Amino acid sequence: MLEYIEKIKNIKLLTAYNANIDAIKHVDEEFINSLIKKYSPEEIRERIEEYPREINDELDFIARLIYSIKTGKPAEVPLKNEELNKFFDSFKYEEERIGGQAGIVANLMATLRLKKIIFYTYLLSKRLANMFVDYENLLYPIANGSLKLINVKKAYKDEEVKINRIFEFKKGLRFKFGDEIIEDKGSTRFIVASRPEKFKICFDDNVRKYLNGLCKEVDCAFLSGYQGIKERYNDGTTYLDYFKKNSEDIKIFKKHGVKCHLEFASIPNLKIREAVVKYILSEVDSVGMDETELANVLHILGYEDLSKKIIEKTKIEDVIEGAKIIIKEFDNLEVIQVHTIYFILMITKSNISLKDLRECLDFSTILAATKAKLGDIKSIEDLKVGLSIPYNKYRDLFLKAYEEDGLKIVSVPSRLVKNPKSTVGLGDTISSGAFVYYVSLYKG
Ligand code: AMP
Repeated sequence: MLEYIEKIKNIKLLTAYNANIDAIKHVDEEFINSLIKKYSPEEIRERIEEYPREINDELDFIARLIYSIKTGKPAEVPLKNEELNKFFDSFKYEEERIGGQAGIVANLMATLRLKKIIFYTYLLSKRLANMFVDYENLLYPIANGSLKLINVKKAYKDEEVKINRIFEFKKGLRFKFGDEIIEDKGSTRFIVASRPEKFKICFDDNVRKYLNGLCKEVDCAFLSGYQGIKERYNDGTTYLDYFKKNSEDIKIFKKHGVKCHLEFASIPNLKIREAVVKYILSEVDSVGMDETELANVLHILGYEDLSKKIIEKTKIEDVIEGAKIIIKEFDNLEVIQVHTIYFILMITKSNISLKDLRECLDFSTILAATKAKLGDIKSIEDLKVGLSIPYNKYRDLFLKAYEEDGLKIVSVPSRLVKNPKSTVGLGDTISSGAFVYYVSLYKG
């Protein structure tokens, strides 16, 4: 295990662009009753029928929450009316933790003691800054006449807080709604996602002026959060402005030899998903995704049958075929990594050895298993927990390493934790672990 940590300790990483606070509320009967008593059952029922796709008032929230409980289906709905923040702040939340890929990865990599981590997100409030682990080498760029890298905990500068409210409920929750008894079908959650107008997925113009300088500080960049770009902003800008800016910035990173990784993420908006493929996937060196995201990209590229097969069965042969299509289609891509519940796959054009690549994926499964078991990775010591969890029962099926068509293809089974404490951020953990390790192999 320590050899793995030894390997990555000289890496300097940039991680951007999304970070927010996840506030978690456990929904019980009393909470539901306090909400529904404000309105008549008819009013609420009518709103459920309308199925609001944004939260504009309290009733939208109550309607979508009840719908989610009734159907047992998870959902995420953006908060449109920011005035409602007061209403949401009035609840008592049981837990607050960091959310957003860039934030999660910054804390993970600081805990794994990388040489330097530069974290960037557009809005950094004191409340968000407080969610970071306390390491001297976890830095935030501030540009004011010159570029300064400041410990992230001390670098807060904005009032605005991006906060996702997560309402979790457990199977068996029951409550009376008019003359109906509603019972929760499954343990799941309803997320009121915050989309502040001011929050942008890119560097602010001041920092952007010093991008060349910033590139000299790092070896690699883990880029994510593009799913949070809105189609339109009140200032007249559109998603295309941000995608073009981001694609130009990646060109600058690459000019300086900074290896760039895109963490694809789930992107419900089709226009945004297509823009990620067109402007970002076509620039980066590396991409990480789960099987659903792989299928979505294949669908965009016109491989509908394969996309459908991957969604339905997730057979390793199909996942390999799909990943090969993508790495061949995009000349810029040097490595693709796909994580699924039973295996992690990496395909690369580079000449790193199969043995090294297998270790790279093994390292990422140890990270995932540790996080699944403990809920969070708090120290390097914790990784012993992940290491003690064996490869899953399909081990022999998923342990592959071979060369074909000038590509190196390696897969490693997951170390599957039976009752995971949490599954939030597992994909980001796998991808960032594999990417950072890959960069360390590349650097030699
Ligand atoms: P994502 O779909 O991007 O959130 O990634 C989830 C990944 O986490 C899966 O593809 C698995 O590789 C891993 N994972 C999920 N559940 C577990 C578990 N219980 N134990 C270990 N790894 C898990």
